[in-house]
Amino acid sequence: MNARTRSRRSRRVASPWSATLACLVLLSPAGCATNPATGETQLALIGEEQEIQMGREAAAQVEAQMGLVDDPELQRYVSRIGQRLAAASERPDLPWRFQVVDDPTVNAFALPGGFIFVTRGIMAAFMSEAELAAVLGHEIGHVTARHSVEQMSQQQLFGGLAGLGAVVFDLGSIAQGVLGTGLSLLFLQYSRDDERQADDLGLRYMVREGFAPQEMLDVFQTLERVGEASDGGGMPGWLATHPAPEDRFQRISAAIEADTIRLADPIVHRDEYLRMIDGLVFGPDPRNGFFRGGEFLHPGLRFRMEFPGDWQTRNLAQAVLAGSPQQDAIIQLTLASQPSADAALRELAAQQGIRVASGSRTSVNGFPAAVAGFEAESQSGPIRGIAAFIEYSGNVYQVLGYAAASRYASYEGTFEGTIGSFDRLTDPSALAVEPRRIDLVRVDGRMDLQSFASRYGASADLETLSIINGVPEGGMLDPGTWKRVVGEAVRAGG
Ligand SMILES: [Zn+2]
Repeated sequence: MNARTRSRRSRRVASPWSATLACLVLLSPAGCATNPATGETQLALIGEEQEIQMGREAAAQVEAQMGLVDDPELQRYVSRIGQRLAAASERPDLPWRFQVVDDPTVNAFALPGGFIFVTRGIMAAFMSEAELAAVLGHEIGHVTARHSVEQMSQQQLFGGLAGLGAVVFDLGSIAQGVLGTGLSLLFLQYSRDDERQADDLGLRYMVREGFAPQEMLDVFQTLERVGEASDGGGMPGWLATHPAPEDRFQRISAAIEADTIRLADPIVHRDEYLRMIDGLVFGPDPRNGFFRGGEFLHPGLRFRMEFPGDWQTRNLAQAVLAGSPQQDAIIQLTLASQPSADAALRELAAQQGIRVASGSRTSVNGFPAAVAGFEAESQSGPIRGIAAFIEYSGNVYQVLGYAAASRYASYEGTFEGTIGSFDRLTDPSALAVEPRRIDLVRVDGRMDLQSFASRYGASADLETLSIINGVPEGGMLDPGTWKRVVGEAVRAGG
């Protein structure tokens, strides 16, 4: 749960483009245009202005939900590389924006209109500026080829993004792993052909700007290893949003070989890049909340709450979720967007498809609260639950506990116990918790990774060190700068 992600979260976003889209479909023959990047003829259902507006609004949601990494120097750096590549693209005049989101997964994504995000997780995995350029170039390719706008308009038609931020009652999806996937709804899915095209375009842009094209191959290898890693955390990442064509490596490798243009002095900028990510938070950030058994502690927001010990739990950017072992009950904790408990309860009651019983004013450990029972329909049948809104330290916390209506009685006590456990966090060690961070180490002689890991590997295992350094587990490190991870591992993901 991220302290910076509230306020804009559930503000309804009007979707003017869906209306525009419908008008175009219904009233006028669709226009066609030649795409400047791919040379292909495309149906131009959505004009550039609408494309930018779609992207801008979705980008605001991404920023609000995931939060940005609070490191102006790093943000400026990524922006500078991105802007260079975008200026070399066929759509230089889009309002390009490149930002690092505060997310530990290894991912990057592009929204229509030129709004591009990389996660701090992927930043930690790169070994050079040219690797960063390869991924930014690939994402720019999704925009210049208009993959992003096509994907998003399809999602709009199917109501994809509309569900974000709203309360979704879906017990059935627990079984399908809603606890494990979190934000994946948000991300656009591309076809393998789109991925090939984005790779080609990314290669084109990075070469135009003088970056060593071979670095793109290193990125493919790193991403593949992240996908296979035992500690993937079950979180959506690049592989979830990028169905990788099997021949990706070979295709680009052949393209590099075939390219007759040889760069005189290709840019890699390994040490420059590593300096930029020295100290970057690595893995989940416990300051955004972490579990200790069934206890959820949030140092940033200074509260604690007790979830049932044997439930499956997950701490996401915008919510904390707990699911019963029988997968027939959920408890979810979020920040309400309303300024008071009463207003937040009224907002819930105003949602379609939910019937809220008259609420009562009460208090939870001395904090003003409003509590009410509710009923709603879900895909898997009628559900019944209890909603509590607790005012604490300038925020309103929303706790929903719900179950299949027929099972509610057996969970009511558990829900009430969880709600009643909400309290101020005073444990000094929890308040002082710090995340793990990337730390640079200077290696003077050649050293095998195994020795490096046993000497510097206290906070990350051999596999992790191997992936983030781009070296096989049995490989050798040349003299130079390498990455380790420092700090105490806290099980923050749940
Ligand atoms: Zn892609």
